[in-house]
Amino acid sequence: MEIFISEIPEEGLHRDGTLAPTIFDLSPEDSIRPAGDITYDAMMYHFDGVVTFEGNLKGKFQLQCNTCLEYFDYEADFPKWRSDLELDEDQQSFDLAEIIREDFLLDLPSYPRCDELVPGMVCPKAHYVVEIQKPLEEEAKPEGGDDAWGALDQLKD
Ligand SMILES: [Zn+2]
Repeated sequence: MEIFISEIPEEGLHRDGTLAPTIFDLSPEDSIRPAGDITYDAMMYHFDGVVTFEGNLKGKFQLQCNTCLEYFDYEADFPKWRSDLELDEDQQSFDLAEIIREDFLLDLPSYPRCDELVPGMVCPKAHYVVEIQKPLEEEAKPEGGDDAWGALDQLKD
């Protein structure tokens, strides 16, 4: 969606609408899966070679939990979206969809965990971390180790 700089009046340019999830063009293995149309409401201002965007962005995604690697539903909602685009010297236009795409990818949680982002969700792998750590701590104690070897010796006899 190309916007020409010359189209932006002093009082700002308003655009709103939806964008297809295909703007993201991500591989199906990516940790971010767009799951529906993006809704945007944007005011654009141009001043001194910089275009400023203000408004709100919304979109449904599936994010991959960083702990259990399962995908979970996540609705991104940026009610106070703000972004700047520094124009090149001879730049006449820009693609609004590209700006919105980049900002979603920047602002979505980088290391999402399903149980932190979904109310009432229990991450199926969260407890493994605790269970694995415990025996390691016990093994580190020297007398624990001695006992284990002692028990093995007794078994041999
Ligand atoms: Zn999880």
